[in-house]
Amino acid sequence: MKKYMVLLMFAVLSACTQAEPEYRETRYIFGTLVEFIIRGEDEAKAKRAIAAVDRDFQRMHKDWHAWKPGGELVALNKALAHGEGMRVSPFVLPLLKQGKVLEAKSGGLFNPAIGALIGAWGFHSDELPTGALPNFDDVHALAARHPSMADVSISGDMVTSRNSTVQFDFGGFAKGVALDMAVEKLKSLGITHAIVNAGGDLNTLGSAGERLWNVGIRDPRDWGVIASVQLQGGENLYTSGNYERFREADGIRYAHIIDPRTGMPVDHTVSASVIHENGALADAAATALIVAGPKNWVEVAEAMGVQYAMLVDKQGTVYASPEMLARVKFETDKKLTIVQSRPLSDKIIELSHSRQNKMTSMH
Ligand code: AMP
Ligand code: MG
Repeated sequence: MKKYMVLLMFAVLSACTQAEPEYRETRYIFGTLVEFIIRGEDEAKAKRAIAAVDRDFQRMHKDWHAWKPGGELVALNKALAHGEGMRVSPFVLPLLKQGKVLEAKSGGLFNPAIGALIGAWGFHSDELPTGALPNFDDVHALAARHPSMADVSISGDMVTSRNSTVQFDFGGFAKGVALDMAVEKLKSLGITHAIVNAGGDLNTLGSAGERLWNVGIRDPRDWGVIASVQLQGGENLYTSGNYERFREADGIRYAHIIDPRTGMPVDHTVSASVIHENGALADAAATALIVAGPKNWVEVAEAMGVQYAMLVDKQGTVYASPEMLARVKFETDKKLTIVQSRPLSDKIIELSHSRQNKMTSMH
């Protein structure tokens, strides 16, 4: 029920001029509602394109899943835990390669090799974890073994790890990789103007008529919109919320974003939003910025080539780059304290494998 409300609130705030045909469809994919808006095409063509993307998404959901049995990633994790290697499909390879680059760029704060820690906290479950907390000494000991994408070797399609604590969990950027692929698929099917919106994380293509795409930035604390922003075609918006999945014990909340350095859930920051033309990078950066928090986010954003970023800490203070502040319109009645950072440079980060990823097709 909540998911439906969320979708309505995060729906694209305004789409296009009515003169242009616009087709909207919502599908339940990845355990979330995904809204497609396709502009300037007849309905049959738009429907066919969405169905093709949906088929891709179903496969991603199975093969990229970190813990549901039956998919490729689960088999790979099992092999690595036994000290064995495994050949992977061209469909999983780009995740591993991009994951390596993004972990390194984030200084290790975005780390998709810490699946064992995420599992230890009970987040490898559809339900919110309950029951006893993990033993903190065990958690610290696991973190001290430094599972990292840097331990992983990829030779052709063969994947091995020199560290048996490496377990992949791509939950921190799979949506970004998936939406990048979705937009490429739409383009290849002749669609020129579209938005694909997975619960407030979204990729854009082309324009919304004569206007820019006007979209809401999620406020995970109250399932609403904290601000709106206008996106050019090709710009993507990702918000990482540290209040969405959590467990509670003795009045303390342990949320699902883990600091890889300690193995402990992050508690200082509740959300981070990033705009970037690469969805995978935006998604990974939003997760990394939550871990970095108010003290370190500026350095991490710069290292990842992010110019538009905004964080909300647990006191509700907003931290943002001047570039981001120049673009957002706050949509809340709450009184906000806003801390503006120094300007962030518009450095281009070469994601050496993104082109290969974009060209991967799934049939
Ligand atoms: P997101 O909503 O994109 O921030 O993704 C959150 C998910 O990423 C979690 O539910 C975990 O599956 C995973 N995750 C948690 N901590 C990290 C981290 N430090 N680096 C990468 N992925 C993480
Ligand atoms: Mg993320």
